[in-house]
Amino acid sequence: MRIHWHRRDLRVPDNRGLASPEAPAPVLPVFVLDDAILSHASPPRVAFLLDALDSLREDYRDLGADLTIRRGDPANILPDLADAVGATAVTASADYSGLARQRDERIAETLGAEGVEPRFVEDGVLVPPGQITTTQGDPYRVFSYYGDSWHDYPKRDPVPRPDESTLSAGDDAVAPGEIPALADLCCASPTADLPSAGTGPARERLRRFCDGPIYEYAERRDFPAAQATSRLSPHLRFGTIGCREVYRATEQAAAEAPTEAAHESVREFQTQLAWRDFYVEQLSNHPSMVSTNLDPFPAAIEWTDDETAFEAWTEGMTGYPIVDAGMRQLQREAWMHNRVRMIVASFLTKDLRIDWRWGYAWFREKLVDHDPANDAGGWQWAASTGTDAQPFFRIFNPATQAEDYDPDGEYVREYVPELADASTMQIHEWPDLDEAVRRSVAPDYPSPIVDHAEAREAALSMFRTARGE
Ligand code: FAD
Repeated sequence: MRIHWHRRDLRVPDNRGLASPEAPAPVLPVFVLDDAILSHASPPRVAFLLDALDSLREDYRDLGADLTIRRGDPANILPDLADAVGATAVTASADYSGLARQRDERIAETLGAEGVEPRFVEDGVLVPPGQITTTQGDPYRVFSYYGDSWHDYPKRDPVPRPDESTLSAGDDAVAPGEIPALADLCCASPTADLPSAGTGPARERLRRFCDGPIYEYAERRDFPAAQATSRLSPHLRFGTIGCREVYRATEQAAAEAPTEAAHESVREFQTQLAWRDFYVEQLSNHPSMVSTNLDPFPAAIEWTDDETAFEAWTEGMTGYPIVDAGMRQLQREAWMHNRVRMIVASFLTKDLRIDWRWGYAWFREKLVDHDPANDAGGWQWAASTGTDAQPFFRIFNPATQAEDYDPDGEYVREYVPELADASTMQIHEWPDLDEAVRRSVAPDYPSPIVDHAEAREAALSMFRTARGE
């Protein structure tokens, strides 16, 4: 008998830890609502998690098994459960954040002391950390080299779901347990419109994306109003779909690509999966990247700590329409388009000169797809503190970004209703319009809280000082 401890792998198919053909069977699937993690979890992620658990339990029940749910410290619960069902091993998918690794070491020790073998199986990435290195055996600091090797690296096939006969529903000694209500864990109701969790919805999203949009991804991915990206991020974050299954679908799409450009577009999408693995590699080598600069400056960066400006940013009230649209999309959908994430992150760290860690903390609270590797990687890229980051002197001009990527103002009008009746020119030039014009066009929408040209100079000076120039 074995326990499979689900964590960031909330699915039955393409689950290497669950499948583990050489580990003991039958297998009792378990999920532990860990209070230590829940104390940091945010409403959208808890809501998505509960929906995913509900769906996972249904998937097991369809196979004549069940998902055992417990709440508390896994270091107490897993040995007790192993004892109750006579399990000799516990499998789980490897997790790479510093906190997760500390937890897993502690639990492995406790289980080992009870004579239960812990096994952490590589599952959540296509290329596990440590596999792609420079000729000296060091991790790559620059993505382009890593990405080239990543494309050439042989990827594993998806693993089939375990046979029904190897799955256990528990017994009288081990009741399945209830999935708690959201209110018992964090909040009365979800604060954002969330997508359906579960493997069914994830597969449907993948199928629809690979049926067409993937062929225009390269061309359209940077335009937020086009809604041309896969929106698989919460599913990849919670593992409601396996990354091998996603990759396999993209390979199939590549094989069927109608044109050379469509083929290249599939590759561009795969490159985003490479970024995901790259940031996991970085997190695995630098667990502190969630809180410290990856590329240290000789002197401290003199961030402004301006709480009023930070609040305006969080509320989508900066007077820069593309920034505010992004921050309001985050509130409404617990998700934001990638190009806009880059714009709002640049605005916070360069125009407002606010520490990227404040932005990271806000995203951690609000994003349904928050993932320590991608989130810290994205923030450190935008703040010019990462290893392969945006150079500090390349500062996004929010107005130019909006003209380039939301040329008709469609995205802004969707999320900033105060500007619904403004002309496209007025949206793009909002920060430079005459105050009287601004008040007549959109009386309730704020004037810009900073002057971009001045803010840019101040940011350059802040970084030059930190660099000792
Ligand atoms: P698609 O374009 O369809 O890409 C497919 C998948 O590839 C994504 O689901 C994601 O898993 C991966 N991916 C795409 N872009 C990136 C990227 N730049 N870096 C790493 N992986 C990528 N992504 C998260 O999953 N969680 C986060 O917490 C997160 N925080 C971010 C913070 C900032 C400041 C920035 C600039 C980016 C962040 N990203 C994060 C990366 C990216 O914005 C999202 O992965 C993407 O917008 C998700 O939408 P999608 O699934 O439609 O992406």
